[in-house]
Amino acid sequence: MADFIIANGYVVTMDPRRQIYADGAVAVEGRNIVAVGRTKDVLARHRAALVIDASGKLVLPGLVDGHNHAFQYLSKGIGDDVDIMTWLYKRVYPYETHVNAEEAYIGALGNYVQMIKSGTTCFNEPGGYHTDSLAQAAADVGIRGILNRSTRDIADQGAPLPEKLFENLETNLRQGEAAVAKWNNAAEGRLRCWFGLRYVFNVSDELCKAIKALADRYKVGIHAHAAAVEGENEAIQERFGKRSLERFHDLGLFGPNLYLVHMGYPNEREIGWLREHDVKVAHCPSASMHGAYGVVGNRMMKRMIELGMTISLGTDSATAGRFLDMVRVMYLAACAHRDQFADATIMGAYKALEMATIDGARACLWDDAIGSLEAGKRADIVVVGMDELRWHPNLDPVRSLVYAADGDDVETVIIDGRIVMRDRVILTVDEERLKRDVIRAGKAWIERAGMRLEMPWPVR
Ligand SMILES: [Zn+2]
Repeated sequence: MADFIIANGYVVTMDPRRQIYADGAVAVEGRNIVAVGRTKDVLARHRAALVIDASGKLVLPGLVDGHNHAFQYLSKGIGDDVDIMTWLYKRVYPYETHVNAEEAYIGALGNYVQMIKSGTTCFNEPGGYHTDSLAQAAADVGIRGILNRSTRDIADQGAPLPEKLFENLETNLRQGEAAVAKWNNAAEGRLRCWFGLRYVFNVSDELCKAIKALADRYKVGIHAHAAAVEGENEAIQERFGKRSLERFHDLGLFGPNLYLVHMGYPNEREIGWLREHDVKVAHCPSASMHGAYGVVGNRMMKRMIELGMTISLGTDSATAGRFLDMVRVMYLAACAHRDQFADATIMGAYKALEMATIDGARACLWDDAIGSLEAGKRADIVVVGMDELRWHPNLDPVRSLVYAADGDDVETVIIDGRIVMRDRVILTVDEERLKRDVIRAGKAWIERAGMRLEMPWPVR
């Protein structure tokens, strides 16, 4: 007997054959999907006390946000319309220095609720501080995700890191290992914890090698920002004598558990190494466009996608890309590269949906359990309403989703077999109270930091 059945929906399975059931159903028992198929076939074999009618609705695997700094949530709005060094040193690093454990918890909870409301069921957090707060918030709201603790043991050239964010090699390793020991496979297996190398600039050779050994020992991934912005390769070359990816490659970091983010600036030789070692990549087009990283414009991301590398999509953060809606990110992934190449036949909606689901799951080393709707996989399912005017006439629901809809069309979200949002009501936390907490905590840290933002126009 199933616990519930979602019936009569347009079910996009993302299974290996990419089967779609125009009148489909998904049966869930405990944490798992037990059947997917045509509604009449599923209902003939399975019964459940609860049948969720998905007539006129799209049923998808939960979306995977492959790169999201939940830790940055309360800093949203402080990094708009500034260059990357101002963004980091005058805005985000002061935030990371001032926010406390309670505020990190509130911010993370806000981050996850906002994600769930647009259909994200799994995230990969690339490393903040207060890992316990970020993990506890994820456990409490019921989302699936991967955490990392930040590591930084050397300063940027000519721009010293705030002292509070700088830790020596031993502290980085001890804290990172403690986070993995505590949170990997926690919350009934919904949480995982990896090792992080925050940014290729800020990590010593010794730290890189030690993190690789630890990640292999614990059988987890390594999440790192690399080849991210223009001028990075040249600056790394000057400091370490090698380009960013060449350095990571030569340090022995390359392998199937290496997960590199942004990646606008690999060359052909480096792409060869990435493919040879099955290195995974995260693409964050909204952050690149908001922060002018040049990832879309540099043409290599499209090349890696066409070569069949495993590439996820990510929002980056509420401060970097500014929205956490993976439906909007899919639109950018589907369309931005077309404009760049003046070719409307590349990428497209179906590829973008693959990247936001099954490819994202594989990039996060979790495709054995999530990323598609198949019997035996964990029940991470999203039900999307298709009755707003923007959907009609709805000739192709997948294309309508990516090109015409947004995350607000998501109605019901199931994570690990649990209904976390029903008809847009979050069931695990009090959203109104959370909103008040976010406003209070957001004001508190900015006052402590003494940060003032100038408005471009006079506000009377
Ligand atoms: Zn990032």
